[in-house]
Amino acid sequence: MKDNMLPVSFCAYCGAPLCGRSDKKYCNSYCKNHYHNKMVTTHQYGKKLLKSLDCNYSILSSLVKLGISSIPIQEIQELGFKPGSCTEVIFKASTIRYRCYDIEYGVSSGRMYGIKLTSLAQAQP
Ligand SMILES: [Zn+2]
Repeated sequence: MKDNMLPVSFCAYCGAPLCGRSDKKYCNSYCKNHYHNKMVTTHQYGKKLLKSLDCNYSILSSLVKLGISSIPIQEIQELGFKPGSCTEVIFKASTIRYRCYDIEYGVSSGRMYGIKLTSLAQAQP
């Protein structure tokens, strides 16, 4: 179903069909305000998350370059690493591995270990 095929448009916030002016985007000011707030929050959250992922990635890649595969969490946090920001969580047997783009690591007893580039990176020049 394509919106542009229909004679009516839909509210950008609640999805209700809109009648009247074709440039109308929302049912009312309630929907308009909530839509705006939602977008701002989502955008800010996304920006923040990307920033911490970028930061984590640059820390991890410097460790990999230095040949460091294990570091106390406290130490890496002091460098600005945010443990909650990763791009993937992998459950392997009884362990949990985390991934930040193409760098994988595990966390155990206050340490990050097994920090390594995965095959994804090896394919790149
Ligand atoms: Zn609405």
